[in-house]
Amino acid sequence: MDHETARRATDAALARASELARAWAAGLDERRVSPVASVTELRARLGGPLPERGEDPVTTVEALAARADAGLVAAPGPRYFGFVTGGGVPAALAADWLAGAWDQNAAMHVMGPAASVAEEVAGAWAAELLGLPAGVSVGFTTGATMASFTALASGRHALLGRAGWDVERDGLFGAPDVPVVVGEEAHVTIPAALGMLGMGRDRVTRVATDGQGRMRADALADVLAGVDRPALVCAQAGNVNTGAFDPLPEIADLVRANGGWLHVDGAFGLWAAADPARRHLVAGAGRADSWTADSHKWLNVPYDSGLVFTAHPAAHHAAMTLGAAYYVEAAGGERDPYNWVAESSRRARGFAVWAAIRSLGRDGVAEMVGRTCDLARRFAAGLDAAPGLGIRVLNEVVLNQVLVRFDDPSGEAAAGDARTDGVIGAVQADGTMWAGGTMWRGQRAMRISVSGWRTTADDVDRSLEAIRRAAREVRTRPSHGPG
Ligand SMILES: *Cc1c(COP(=O)(O)O)cnc(C)c1O
Repeated sequence: MDHETARRATDAALARASELARAWAAGLDERRVSPVASVTELRARLGGPLPERGEDPVTTVEALAARADAGLVAAPGPRYFGFVTGGGVPAALAADWLAGAWDQNAAMHVMGPAASVAEEVAGAWAAELLGLPAGVSVGFTTGATMASFTALASGRHALLGRAGWDVERDGLFGAPDVPVVVGEEAHVTIPAALGMLGMGRDRVTRVATDGQGRMRADALADVLAGVDRPALVCAQAGNVNTGAFDPLPEIADLVRANGGWLHVDGAFGLWAAADPARRHLVAGAGRADSWTADSHKWLNVPYDSGLVFTAHPAAHHAAMTLGAAYYVEAAGGERDPYNWVAESSRRARGFAVWAAIRSLGRDGVAEMVGRTCDLARRFAAGLDAAPGLGIRVLNEVVLNQVLVRFDDPSGEAAAGDARTDGVIGAVQADGTMWAGGTMWRGQRAMRISVSGWRTTADDVDRSLEAIRRAAREVRTRPSHGPG
């Protein structure tokens, strides 16, 4: 292949991908939200024997788009309310394309100086939006899972270091004990991260929560009164079901008194700090030792994009570095991103975060957070105002999350579970919107999360109509299986 051929092939493939991507984006408002193809169909479409001979790149790009289409979820669109996701604001999506084309390795400054500096700047901007103290260290991770992994590794380093143990050098066998305390409602990725860190998924003390899933400060006080050394404590800013916040000021006081390390998992909820009208919800968060936030959730940056922050750069560095165990700043002050995450070579995630924050600005992020919270309240009000359909909002809608239950006329819990799953299945099959199911306090519920930048009041109203339709259809006996 000569340069001219390579240049033409690249240009043609990018031009076709751009057309296809723009058609996808333009179709998001009206596209059916759930995919239509079954797993068998997708395996047939995308499968086949290993290609023996290559083909023209444009043909491959077109084949991918055509064959994947029926299995694509309109998750970046305006009526996807599943899990807690987000879309991609235009500048962030476009910056992500550029990051792909530039193909910078964000492992080391020398491999991609602009990538490294964009992380530095975007990390500081994000920390300021989130109300974190000046001088926090930052790492750009794949998501909240690895952000919490990184934060908890930093806490493990610091607590064991204070007990005279070098965990990176000597491992955990024979190490002093570190009590680990999490709320009953900790996100599943917290025990998963603890498991990967050798601290055990189940070797934790779980603290009771209240009716909204908030850690009870009095219960935490009891737990910490029973431990004789500094503990690693994980609190939550934004319960994945209710959106509720742990009482962070009280928790921070208790962990300070214990001498432990406080981690706050604020994957989506920490962004509430960017909205002056909701900042009070995260009061006290700034006093923690480490924080998790996802850019690919409420900031609406495309996947994959998580953020970890710590107030202890030396511990963070020691836990993650591939280089010297002791933190030495480069002569020119350059920042090597690989010192702050559990990866070496990787894509330059910082560009898209930089672009999202620059294009939205402080007021744009605040507006997006505030607007989606208002739309969640509109959802809840619309569901409350549907008499006779047995619809019940289960949570206090303090943020962007709404939990909905579809009771059975018999009043029986199991029948209500079945009806709730039936309604969720019917809503998903209808395709106007998408919301998933969850367990809340032993009962099935539909979880609606308004996190996407494209959602409007009209989208909420259309979605409410789809939910009412499904609730009328699934009166007593579910006509669809669990969703
Ligand atoms: C989404 C979420 C996670 C996991 O985030 P990923 O980005 O999927 O790794 C962790 N904690 C909370 C509270 C979340 O909402």
